[in-house]
Amino acid sequence: MRLIILGAPGSGKGTSAAVLREEYSLAHISTGDIFRANIKEGTPLGLEAKGYIDKGALVPDSLTVSMVEDRLSQDDCEKGYILDGFPRTIAQAQALDEMLDARGEQIDAVVLIKIEDEVIKARVFGRRVCEKCGASYNVDYKPTKVEGICDTCGGNVVQRADDNPETVQERLKTYYNNTQPLIDFYDKKGIIIEGDNNIDSKICIKEIKDGLNAKGLI
Ligand code: ADP
Ligand code: ZN
Repeated sequence: MRLIILGAPGSGKGTSAAVLREEYSLAHISTGDIFRANIKEGTPLGLEAKGYIDKGALVPDSLTVSMVEDRLSQDDCEKGYILDGFPRTIAQAQALDEMLDARGEQIDAVVLIKIEDEVIKARVFGRRVCEKCGASYNVDYKPTKVEGICDTCGGNVVQRADDNPETVQERLKTYYNNTQPLIDFYDKKGIIIEGDNNIDSKICIKEIKDGLNAKGLI
């Protein structure tokens, strides 16, 4: 099964993607996580991406697309994957179609996370992420057992540099300008399924599973 998960910044894409990865043994490909790992390691890609990410802007398509192409050619993607945070522009979606065509593959479903901006803003400032494994926590809704330490891997749990009010506002703007048009792009292909994450991630996951089930994917 090959999935894309689409939604505003802070909508809970990563949380839902982590559940789907576990339950259906998919590779979880988060472009944000890959960029952050590169920034932490100080790679040339990381250095280039950092300026854009700190501003809440998108990293240029050329860099992002070649990074994803690389990642999709790794062995663990053969069993299926979930793309989280990619594509984020129509150009990226077209590049993905070309990549998949060349491999004789296609995306089975696009999971769209529905959420209000106000809910995002309220949640994103409490968000904390594990530097090592990318696990997502929230000081209000889902705290770690030991403060600052990841429950699953023991890594440091920190606030993302871009989870501050100005950058979140900018990321939302970027989302509505660049990423929202993708909903139409995939709706035309008839492959969108929705999950509502305004109330609770359990409800969201249940709706996503119902959608996958209705498409005969699970
Ligand atoms: P969120 O969805 O909460 O904004 P991500 O971890 O997906 O968080 O992305 C963080 C940042 O990484 C984005 O604001 C953007 O700067 C960059 N980024 C991630 N994915 C892409 C992409 N597909 N194209 C361009 N930039 C990206
Ligand atoms: Zn961890």
